[in-house]
Formats: sequence, C-alpha cells, structure tokens
Amino acid sequence: MKILLMGPPGAGKGSQAQRLIDEYDLAHISTGEMFRESYQRGETLGIEAMRYIKNGNLVSDDITNEIVRKRLFEDGDTKNVLLDGYPRTVKQAQALDHMLDKMNSKLTAVVNIVVDEEVILERMVGRRVCKDCGQTYHTTFKPPKVEGVCDICGGELYQRQDDKPESVRNRLNIYESKTKPIIDYYKGRGVLVNINGMQSFEAVYRDIVKAVGELS
Ligand code: ADP
Ligand code: AMP
Repeated sequence: MKILLMGPPGAGKGSQAQRLIDEYDLAHISTGEMFRESYQRGETLGIEAMRYIKNGNLVSDDITNEIVRKRLFEDGDTKNVLLDGYPRTVKQAQALDHMLDKMNSKLTAVVNIVVDEEVILERMVGRRVCKDCGQTYHTTFKPPKVEGVCDICGGELYQRQDDKPESVRNRLNIYESKTKPIIDYYKGRGVLVNINGMQSFEAVYRDIVKAVGELS
C-alpha cells in the first residue's frame, strides 16, 4: 500500500500521518521531518536545506527527490509507505512516478486534506513541536499537559521558524503556485480523494480510513 497525503501547510497531514502509520503499518516518509532531523544532526544537507525552509521556500527538486529515492530504495521497509509533504511540485510527482515504476508499484490513494486559509493560519501560528521526538501540539487545539513540555518524552516544545507569520504567507503562496497543480496531475487516475480537514482530528481520521478502505 502506498498512500500520499496532500494539502496545504498546516492542513493536518503530520497529525493524521501518526495514526495512519500505526493503523496500516506504513513507513512514514516526511521530507520536512527528514530535513529537520538532518539539520538537528548538524549535517550539510540539513544546514543547506534550512536556508530555504526557514523563509518558507522549497528545497530544490533534485535534493528532495534524491533523499526520497534513497529512502525508498536503500532502506528495505518501503513496500507500505505513507508519503507526507512529498511530492510538492509537478516535477517531484513525475520523479515519484518514475521511482514507483521501478518498484513495480503505484499509489493506492492520494488523500487531499482540504482546509480554508483562515483555519490554516490559526493552525500554523499555534503549532508547537517537540525538539526531541517531533510530536506536534497546538496551543489551543491540542495543548500539552504542561505548557512547553512534550507529554510523550518530556522534551522542550518550540515554534518552527517557518511557522512565524513572515514565512507562513510565503508558504501559502508557494502551495498555491507550485503544489496545488499536483492535484490536477493525479486527477483521472481514480486514486484522488478530497477530505474535509476542518473537522476534529478524529473525524478527519475516520474519513481518511474510510476513503483508503474504498480504494484498497
Ligand atoms: P501539516 O503536517 O499538514 O503541516 P500538522 O499536522 O502539523 O499539519 O497540523 C498543523 C497544526 O494544526 C498542529 O498544531 C496540529 O496540532 C493542528 N491540527 C491538525 N489537525 C487539526 C484538527 N483536525 N483540528 C484542530 N487542530 C488541528
Ligand atoms: P513540512 O514539514 O512538510 O511542513 O515541510 C517543511 C519545509 O520543508 C517546507 O516548507 C519546505 O521548505 C521543505 N520541504 C519539505 N518537503 C519538501 C518537498 N517535497 N520539496 C521541497 N521542499 C520541501
């Protein structure tokens, strides 16, 4: 099974991904998380990527395709996969098709989480992430038990640099111009499903599981 989660930044992809990977036993491929982890490890790749990420710009297609290619072909646990935040351009979608062809595989479902702009802004501004385990919170919608502290590992919560208002606007513009066209790219393949993301975490999850079940 290969599921692709799409939607604007802040739509809830990462939050839903955490439950979906457990439900379907999927390898989680989040390019954003891979870049952030690489940055935290002090690697050149992560440091280079963060120059783009912090202002809300996209990392180049070549660099991004290459980390996904490595993850898909060199790690050996990629029969069942959840792609989250990749592809983000039509070029990346074409590269992914090429990789899936080589694996004799194809996408089971392209799940597009639909959320209005004002909800996105509210979600991104309130998002907090654990420095140690990457768990995501929201100051209003999913607060931790103790402010600033991760419920799971006790790590410190921080606000992503690219969730600050000056980057958020740029990310939304980039989503509209570069990422949204991918929806058309997948239309007509019978795998695309739109999910209303402006519901509770639980209701969004339930709708995704139902849609994936129908496409599997
Ligand atoms: P993405 O991975 O699409 O950028 P996240 O999953 O990180 O989005 O969610 C962005 C923020 O919105 C997080 O702070 C998260 O806790 C919150 N959030 C996600 N889904 C919902 C929801 N259904 N209702 C309320 N808040 C949500
Ligand atoms: P995310 O965690 O998915 O919100 O991604 C955070 C940031 O990482 C994005 O705003 C981009 O700067 C970068 N990034 C993540 N995935 C990609 C991708 N597929 N292509 C280019 N840049 C990406």
